[in-house]
Amino acid sequence: MAENDGHRAVFTPINCSPTPYITGGNLPYRYDLVSFHFHHLSEHTVNGNHYPLEVHFVLTRHGKPLSTTITDTTSTQAAAIAVFFKRGSEPTPIDPLVQAMQTILPASGNTATVKSYDISSLLPKNKSLYYRYKGSLGEGPPCNEAFLWTVMKQTKPVTQSQIDLFTQLNKNVDNGYPFNNRQFSQRMNMP
Ligand SMILES: [Zn+2]
Repeated sequence: MAENDGHRAVFTPINCSPTPYITGGNLPYRYDLVSFHFHHLSEHTVNGNHYPLEVHFVLTRHGKPLSTTITDTTSTQAAAIAVFFKRGSEPTPIDPLVQAMQTILPASGNTATVKSYDISSLLPKNKSLYYRYKGSLGEGPPCNEAFLWTVMKQTKPVTQSQIDLFTQLNKNVDNGYPFNNRQFSQRMNMP
C-alpha cells in the first residue's frame, strides 16, 4: 500500500506472506520489511554528489516489532537499506509504482494500492557492494542511531518523468523536516 504521509510516499507491504525479509550480507539477523520510502534528492551523498532518487527500506529483526528494536541504540536489531537511482530509460523498478504515486500525490493521507509488486526489483543485481554503518533513520522521531545501515553501491534506473513525480510530491508535502541534509554523508567516503 502506498501512502502520502505528509512528508513523502511511504509503501507498506500488505497481504504478503511471509513478510518480505532480508538475510545475509554480513547482517547479524534476519530482518523483516516494515516499509519503504523514497527521497528526492538522495539523502546520502557519495563523494559529495547526490543521486536524483534514493529508496530506504526500513527493517526490524524478525519477530520483533520496530517499536522495540529502534529504542535500543546499542544493538543492531533495526536495519535500513538504501539504494540509489540514476537517470536511465525504461523499464525501471519504479514503473509499477507510478499509478499509485499519482493517486497519492495531491494530499497528505491519500492512499493507493500497488498490486503484487516485486520489492526485490528495487535492489541492485550486485548486492555484495555496499557501505555499512550505524546511524539514524534521519526523518522524524525518534532520531537515534539504532539502525544498521546498508547503502548499496550499485544503482537502479529511474526516468526523468518519474523523478518529476517525486519533485511534485516534495512540493505538495509539508516541509517539516530538513530534506536532503544528512549529516553523515562524509562517512560515505570512508573505505
Ligand atoms: Zn529515508
